[in-house]
Amino acid sequence: QFAIEIEGLAKTYAAHKGEPPKEALKGVDLQVPQGSIFGLLGPNGAGKSTLINILAGLVRKSAGNVRIWGFDHDVNPRQSRAAIGVMPQELNLDPFFTARAALDVQAGLYGVPKRERRTDEILEMIGLTDKADAYSRTLSGGMRRRLLLGKALVHNPHVLVLDEPTAGVDIELRQMLWNNVRKLNEQGMTIILTTHYLEEAEQMCDQIAIIHNGEKIAHDRTDRLIGRL
Ligand code: ADP
Ligand code: ADP
Repeated sequence: QFAIEIEGLAKTYAAHKGEPPKEALKGVDLQVPQGSIFGLLGPNGAGKSTLINILAGLVRKSAGNVRIWGFDHDVNPRQSRAAIGVMPQELNLDPFFTARAALDVQAGLYGVPKRERRTDEILEMIGLTDKADAYSRTLSGGMRRRLLLGKALVHNPHVLVLDEPTAGVDIELRQMLWNNVRKLNEQGMTIILTTHYLEEAEQMCDQIAIIHNGEKIAHDRTDRLIGRL
C-alpha cells in the first residue's frame, strides 16, 4: 500500500517580471510506501519544494495525478488534505498568536473537535510547554520551527512532510527533530522529508528519491542507492 502516489506530475510557473516560464517539475512518477521514512534529495532548485507544496495544496499542479492515502487530490480534495501535514521551510507564523493559540487555530482549520484536540500533548512533544502563552514573534528561530512541526500534527495526519527541516538548524534542535520523527514513524506515521544533505538522508530514510532539474533520476532503498553512488 502507498501513502502517496504521484503520476506524471508537472509544474510550470508562469512567466514573471521578464523571467521566462519555469518548468519546475517535468512529469514525475513517485510512490511512497506506507510507514516509511522517505527522503526527497536534490540540489537547490531541483523542484523539491514545488513537489511538496503541491502535496500540501499550496501550489497548483500543471498536470498529473496525486493520491494521498488513496484519496485523489482532484476528486477528494478534503480527504486528501486531511491525510497530510506539512512543516514548511519558511518560518511563517502569525506574530499575534501565542504558541497555544497557533495550535488551536490550526486544529480549528482542520475541523478537529475541541474535545479531540491534543494541544497540551503536542506542546509537550515539541518542548514548548513553558512557552505555551508566549507570542510567536517572541520565539527564537528554533522554537518557531518546533511550533511549525506541532502545527503540522494537530489533525493527526497519516503522512507528515518536512521541507528541509534541518537547514540552518543547530545540532540540539536537529536531534530533537529526528527523535520526534522517529517516534512518530514508530507510531505508524509515514514521513517524507526533503534535504540536500545526502548524509542526513542516509541516516534517516528507508528509501530515497533523487530529484534533479524537475525530474526523478533515481529511487531505491537507501542501502542499495548509497551502494551505487
Ligand atoms: P511581486 O513583487 O510581484 O510580489 P515577487 O518577485 O516578490 O513579485 O515574487 C512573487 C512570489 O513568487 C514570491 O513569493 C517569490 O518567492 C516567488 N518567485 C518568483 N520567482 C521565483 C523564482 N525564480 N524562484 C522562486 N520563487 C520565485
Ligand atoms: P528546491 O526546493 O529543490 O530547491 P524549488 O521547487 O523551490 O526547488 O524550485 C524549482 C525551480 O522552480 C527553481 O528554478 C525555482 O527558481 C523555480 N520556482 C520556484 N518557485 C517559483 C515561483 N513561485 N515562481 C517562479 N519560479 C519558481
